[in-house]
Amino acid sequence: MTRRRCYNRSVATSLITIGDELLAGFTLDTNSHWLAERLRLAGRPLRRITVVRDRLEDISGQVRRDLSDPETEDVFCCGGLGPTPDDRTLEAVAHALGRETVLWSPAMERIERRVRLLHEAGLVDTPEISEGHRRMARIPAHPDHVFHNRRGLAPGLMYQVGHRRLFVLPGVPAELRGIFTEELAPRFLGGRAAPVVRELRFLQAMESRFYPVMRQLEESHPQVSVGSYPQSVSQELVIRFSGESEKQVLEAMALVRRWAATMGLEPVT
Ligand code: ATP
Ligand code: MG
Repeated sequence: MTRRRCYNRSVATSLITIGDELLAGFTLDTNSHWLAERLRLAGRPLRRITVVRDRLEDISGQVRRDLSDPETEDVFCCGGLGPTPDDRTLEAVAHALGRETVLWSPAMERIERRVRLLHEAGLVDTPEISEGHRRMARIPAHPDHVFHNRRGLAPGLMYQVGHRRLFVLPGVPAELRGIFTEELAPRFLGGRAAPVVRELRFLQAMESRFYPVMRQLEESHPQVSVGSYPQSVSQELVIRFSGESEKQVLEAMALVRRWAATMGLEPVT
């Protein structure tokens, strides 16, 4: 049994990951996992992750839904910025925003420069710019910020849509992580604290025994999210508490600790 509650942060972040290969089980969606942790640490926890196919309507429909969700502040989407016809994210985002796509010359110049260097290094056959490369530099009009992407060709993008921000990132994990860490987080995600997270670990404890105290915490500490996570390898039951107030998190933890003691259970940590 796992009981989850969200502490009452009024707005949060949505993530859309894009790719047929994710939905077909060929590729594990590691970008979601990585971004979920980074965004939590940046004080902008994810509220929802949606995985969609490389279809124009699927992508644009989800972007539109997330951008009109009153409880979503920032929307991230990743994947499908590449040079092949199955990469449709830029076109779909343009569709969702009701904008045209435009050839973004700084992106085009960077692509030309990088293709030339790749050719000089013997890594590609020709310095010629392909139709695919031109597609990568065609972005939805009026970006508010274009990320450089030191590791690849596709530019990352940010659009201010009313009071929300839409971030569009490449799917290649090294590129996504590089842009996020080096460019995006320092510039756009400052100023918020990560929620306080604490854990209690009990060895070989039955999680159902914690049901009553977790119910009680729902009433007494609604701002603290409490989850129970049995670990099959270590045989530990992890009870995790998170919330914005350290005081409340520690109180909730103390309550569970006391409850466990009445049943003769001591946490290992
Ligand atoms: P680029 O334009 O830089 O080539 P892209 O934005 O077009 O990247 P995709 O073509 O969708 O990205 O995917 C590129 C590679 O990254 C593929 O091998 C794909 O499987 C992988 N990838 C895409 N999305 C994810 C994800 N969410 N988690 C892990 N790997 C991913
Ligand atoms: Mg793809």
